[in-house]
Amino acid sequence: MKKIIIILTISIFFGCKSKENHDTEKHNETTEKHHEISDKKSKIDLKSGKIANISGNQDIEKLLTGKGNYNDQTLFTTAIPDKYASKEITYLRIETLDAFLEMAEAAENDGILLKIVSGARGFDRQKRIWERKWNNSTIENHAERALDILKYSSMPMTSRHHWGTDIDLNNLENSYFESGEGLRIYKWLTENASKYGFCQVYSDKMIDGRKGYEMEKWHWSYMPLAEILLKEYNRNIKYENITGFLGSDKARELNIINDFVNGIEHCQD
Ligand SMILES: [Zn+2]
Repeated sequence: MKKIIIILTISIFFGCKSKENHDTEKHNETTEKHHEISDKKSKIDLKSGKIANISGNQDIEKLLTGKGNYNDQTLFTTAIPDKYASKEITYLRIETLDAFLEMAEAAENDGILLKIVSGARGFDRQKRIWERKWNNSTIENHAERALDILKYSSMPMTSRHHWGTDIDLNNLENSYFESGEGLRIYKWLTENASKYGFCQVYSDKMIDGRKGYEMEKWHWSYMPLAEILLKEYNRNIKYENITGFLGSDKARELNIINDFVNGIEHCQD
């Protein structure tokens, strides 16, 4: 009898131990993956605000206007774990994914599952979206037509989604975030996202008095990198650069750079 108890105790002990080992292994795997991402990233030293590599070997103007090379693994990644991603493959700046993973893991511990619906979009993709809406519109006046599309869609070359710093989370309707699971997700994000560098840049215009796009409760921006890219945008991109799609001649008249590209909430205290 004593022997049986001893064997039982040993097997329970090893049983637990092996589960513990398994969990530790799993944890190590996640940590390693995380470090791999951290090591590859074009470092931003958040404390000093120093940037080692904002555009890598790429032309900054191209990167800012969606014409950069998203396959450049020194800047971009598609390595979003399946549980945090929609089916479509999306590119993100490595720094953005790194910060997002920290946020998503914290959210998961609080019972919230964050899913990236959309990340980086290049010029060609944005042009297709824009021109489809342009061609389907019945508004005769071109400035008014552009303004109507601009409620929720960016002109090509002026979208933050070109940068790989901005993500759409879980659902593309504000109403989803106003009740039930959506409201829980939104509450978590408004309370916690800033700890990881994320900001809802298209906030409530009535409260923040900003210009530009309507409120988007799903659109979150990784500010430590995006604020630098916005400064670069203002320095490098002029209206004469914004060409190559239907209605591009309206960009200057509609003050797109001032009101839309810069018409954001910065989430600073
Ligand atoms: Zn978005």
